[in-house]
Amino acid sequence: MEKPSVKLKYLSATLATALCLVAAGTGLAQNSAPPVQKVTAATPAPKLVVMIAVDQFSADLFAEYRGHFTGGLARLASGVVFPSGYQAHGATETCPGHSTILTGNHPAHTGIVANNYFDLSVTRDDKRVYCAEDESVAGTTSKSGAYAPSVKHLLVPTLGDLMKVRDPEAQVVSVSGKDRSAIMMGGRQADELMWLAPTGLASYRGTTLSPTAQQASAAVAAAINQPRPGLTLPADCAARDIAIPVGDKGATVGTGRMARDAGDFRRFMASPEADGAVLATAAALRQARKMGEGSSTDLLIVGLSATDYVGHSTGTEGSEMCLQMAGLDRELGDFFARLDATGIDYVVALTADHGGHDLPERNRQNAWPDAQRVDKALDPEAMGKAVAEKLGLPQPLLYGDGGDYYLAKTLTAAQRKAALAELLPRLRAHPQVEAVATREELDAHPISKRAPDSWTLLDKLRASYNPQRSGDFIIALKPRVTPIPEAGVGYVATHGSVWDYDRRVPILFWRKGLAGFEQPNAVMTVDIMPTLASVIGLPVDASKIDGRCLDLLSGPETSCR
Ligand SMILES: [Zn+2]
Repeated sequence: MEKPSVKLKYLSATLATALCLVAAGTGLAQNSAPPVQKVTAATPAPKLVVMIAVDQFSADLFAEYRGHFTGGLARLASGVVFPSGYQAHGATETCPGHSTILTGNHPAHTGIVANNYFDLSVTRDDKRVYCAEDESVAGTTSKSGAYAPSVKHLLVPTLGDLMKVRDPEAQVVSVSGKDRSAIMMGGRQADELMWLAPTGLASYRGTTLSPTAQQASAAVAAAINQPRPGLTLPADCAARDIAIPVGDKGATVGTGRMARDAGDFRRFMASPEADGAVLATAAALRQARKMGEGSSTDLLIVGLSATDYVGHSTGTEGSEMCLQMAGLDRELGDFFARLDATGIDYVVALTADHGGHDLPERNRQNAWPDAQRVDKALDPEAMGKAVAEKLGLPQPLLYGDGGDYYLAKTLTAAQRKAALAELLPRLRAHPQVEAVATREELDAHPISKRAPDSWTLLDKLRASYNPQRSGDFIIALKPRVTPIPEAGVGYVATHGSVWDYDRRVPILFWRKGLAGFEQPNAVMTVDIMPTLASVIGLPVDASKIDGRCLDLLSGPETSCR
């Protein structure tokens, strides 16, 4: 496979030079490889845990490209592989998904029920609340760039938080393309936590980046400010290189090469360059902090967001995703090679925050004629207006985002009853609506203890329902209804549904000397935290999590303590 990006190499080289990223510089590099020791139950805990979340890396993408991987993903695919991992809950969005990975809890318990939810009691005018903001900060709104990033909505500790309780010397660093990814996996106690921004790297308001992070930030900013020529399409991507018309302005997707102008941050993010920047930063911070080289076990958290931006802007089956998969595989391979050169005993886990689904326009060409975009009439604002006018109720009547719909708090009990009596049958009769669940139904429904491939629709919605934050009712659309009414630039396809294309994600573990095996039965992303905790000998109170430890040792021995 051809190398996907000249500029990518430029970025890596820039960062490597700026940050003295040479393997021999650690003092731990090994001149001759010793024989690989087989990992057994008696093997001491690894010194470094590397948790990688690839945004929108569905089980379908993993299956489609698995045979093509030759880099970091090929290595992970040779380890302990759960090809049917589940983000088990119904609200398959980025923030809820990331909140499950290192907490061991469903969004019902993490409190992260959606990327955005409504809190009609907040004092500011904007009642929408972003999952990773502090809405009490004066002058903020939920809009991108206008909120104060915060971890305050996360209701449970992360693996890093628990590692810090056991051993304050344990280091936790979280770097991601997106703030919500870095924050929901990093938790409250991270030593350093940052994400990509048009200016390089950013963190919480009022914090100063460490000198190493500042160097990385400058290198990332320099990369963003370089134009990028189109990439060469690898030969095995050629069959996907087909233009698909979207919208009514003559636009197409499917044949992109990721060329961009200098300073085009949106296109930077929708390319392997963004993932390379995050990985180079993570490697630099690990080296500067000597993570994995002390007496403690440390945690390095990496959120790779580019796959999600590629999926949203161009779908999952075109030349663009093919370039992204090749670049991701190569960037991960480079990252692991740097870690290998240090000689540190590290364990890697990789998963995704949710799956994904291709755009309806291409699905219709590829044997799914019924794929469609959502009806604008289902928009909460439009529906609330229509019902308020019909019943003579005050406006605004209805707020909503994703599947959660909230009734105005100002309604009397009688008005509320009348509104629901009009809204619920109207919604349930809509040909694109699979089901509507009310908060009363969800309150009465326990969280399922069954394997996630057998969950009912109510089971799924319940796992991302929190009575303090979720809507008065939640709508599930029928399968293959894309909840974007009109394709726009940078936004043609999405995830977020209760269906398995959005729920199923790979869960992969790798450690040097760990015998690989494949377990096709369904497991969950909430299982990752107790699994890693066991590997590093950290006790976890099973009554405080939804997941279970996955035994990573094939045969009679177990890694679950
Ligand atoms: Zn996501």
